[in-house]
Order: sequence, then C-alpha cells, then structure tokens
Amino acid sequence: MARAHLRHTVVEINLEAIRANIAHFCDWVGDQVNVMAVVKADAYGHGAVEVARAALKGGAAWLGVAQAEEGVELREAHLDCPILVLGPSNPEQARLAVAHHLDLMVTSGPGWASVLEAAQGGKRPRVHLKVDTGMGRVGVRPDTVVSEWLPRLTSGKVQWQGLMSHLAASDEPDPESTQRQLAVFLDVLEAVRAKGVAFPPALHLANSAAALRYPGTHFNLVRVGIGMYGALDLEGASELEPAMTISSAVSLVKRVPAGTPIGYGGSFVTNADATIATVPIGYADGYRRAFSNRAEALVSGVRCPVVGRVSMDQITILVPDGIPVEEGDRVVLLGRMGDQHITIHDWADWADTISYEILTGISTRMTRRYS
Ligand code: PLP
Repeated sequence: MARAHLRHTVVEINLEAIRANIAHFCDWVGDQVNVMAVVKADAYGHGAVEVARAALKGGAAWLGVAQAEEGVELREAHLDCPILVLGPSNPEQARLAVAHHLDLMVTSGPGWASVLEAAQGGKRPRVHLKVDTGMGRVGVRPDTVVSEWLPRLTSGKVQWQGLMSHLAASDEPDPESTQRQLAVFLDVLEAVRAKGVAFPPALHLANSAAALRYPGTHFNLVRVGIGMYGALDLEGASELEPAMTISSAVSLVKRVPAGTPIGYGGSFVTNADATIATVPIGYADGYRRAFSNRAEALVSGVRCPVVGRVSMDQITILVPDGIPVEEGDRVVLLGRMGDQHITIHDWADWADTISYEILTGISTRMTRRYS
C-alpha cells in the first residue's frame, strides 16, 4: 500500500458530479453548440485525466489545457478528442503540441513564429486565433485581424481551426463589459465575413458564467471550467454539484482550562473550559493559513470554529460542550455532513480570494479518491 494512503486526510472527487455538470451545460447550450471541458492546472486540482474522462462521458467534445505538457498527459492517457492549449506556447511547447496533435492558440507575432517553426517537416499546425476584445491580457488587436492575420491563417501553412476571445467579467453583476466584448467579437466576425473568408470551424468566447448567463456568447463552442467542478459562485449555478470533498479524522482530543492559548502565537485563548480537537490538515495541504480563527469544520454534523493559527500540517477546532467528539471521528473540512455544508465559497471568503485559487492550491500531498 502506498504510504500516502495511510493518512486520513483525503480529497474525494465525485466523477459523477463532473459528468452530470457537463451534461447540464450540454443541455443548456443545445445541440448546435459544443462544450470544451477546461482541465488545465490538473483539472483545477481535481485530477486531469480522471476529470477529462468523466467530462467526455458527460458530452464534452473538446478539452482545454493551459500548456502543451498538460495536453500530452491527456494524449498519453489515450484521450484522442480535440485538445486546445489555451495559453501561449514557446517554440519547444509549440513543437510538442504539434507532435501530439494539440490545437494551438496564437496571440502574437512571436507566437506565430513558434507555430511556423513547429510546422517544419510538413506538419500543418491546428491554430486558433485569440483576439483581445477587452480583457487586455493576451490576444491580437481586433483591428489587425483582417490586415495582418487573415493572410497568415489562410496561407496554407496552418489549419485554421478557431477564432476566439476571453471574457473578463462574465461572472460580475454588471453585464456592460461582457456586452462590449461581445460587440467587438461580432465586429471582428463581420470584418472576416466582409472579406469573403470562410470562418474556421470553432468560434468561441464563453466561459462557464457566460455559458449560463449570455446565450449570445455561445457561438458554436463554450469553454467550461469552474462550472464543471460545481464551484461557480453565481445565481443560476445551484444545480451544479460540487465535485470535491475534503475530510479527515480527529487525531487528538483534549480538555483545557480557561485562559489556554492555542497554536502558534497564541492567537486564540480559551475563555472557559473547552474541548479542542486536533485534525491533521494544514497550509501544506492547501488549507490556508488565512483561515486561522475564521474557518469552520463539521464535527458530528455541527459547524465548529477553527481556532488558533492553521499550521503547516495541523489545525485545532473548538468543539462546543455537548457535541460528542473522539479521536478517530470523521471531520469534514469541505463538503456535507448531515444537513450542514461547508462550501468552496466559504473557503474563498475565509481567505479573501476566489474558488479558482483555492481549488488549484489544494496540494497533491492529500490522497485523491475517485468515486
Ligand atoms: N477559457 C479560457 C481561455 C480560460 O483561461 C479559462 C479559465 O481560466 C476558461 C475558459 C474557463 O473559465 P471558467 O473556469 O470561468 O469556466
């Protein structure tokens, strides 16, 4: 047995939730629109290969990764659907992508040079042009698409597979910025059409939030990440089932008198006799130090406060009098116990961040179990 499996602190991934969440998006966008399951960063910490398989079962037609190396991992697991590298590629990455039949995103002149270099030897790389419609991060300027990019994309040196952009604020209440970006994307499409150039097979703009909120952004492909994991903080996303649960077992229970400092720095001091349960999870696992004196955990189905500093490998929980607790009892850090639910949004709030950062920060030190 692998030693890592001896520890009681585990991450459980519900692959049926992944499948069902993707199926929900497929139903929502309809038959004419494909779904790309975004599995970059080890599927937002859930495990890329396992999630990719479940997403394809749920109806996804494409997979999206951030870099060629992640795409190669999927190819080596015999996943042969179209895979798009959503981040810029350096020349070595472009060569790797072409060798493994991965679609490349092009966002700049140097990026194009990498693609051409990778094309040597008679290969015709599959390319998606990314346009910056208002996010201001990566993408070619909209006014250069016709003059600079159409000649390159139709030169015969590459297979032009897609025209895409990315939305900056589709999950925010104000729709204005999304509408502005959509209008710019539509103008680009119109300029291509006016040139008499056929569109590439894939036109795509929407991420999870836009896929749910803005049907006008669907075109014929939507790129779904956070929604597939059931971690989208949005009204209308409540049908999506969270895929990740984190639990552990109490390693020590002790009764302490009033005035006992707990943990590094004594940042919490008991104000009465108290029961403190220690649990083996810490910031080395992705259980953030920022949670200190803010988080809650489920013990015997009751929300109990995490008191004192979160340390590298352990936390301490104040178990209210009357709540039974013994060494070995299960503790849920993320997920459901009885009628209580600690959500990824709770975690994000405790650390003043977003669910994406929490999920991708969950360490591989914790065993992943798939069901
Ligand atoms: N498309 C691109 C280019 C991305 O970078 C991402 C994720 O960051 C996604 C789609 C998926 O976004 P979301 O996780 O919000 O669905």
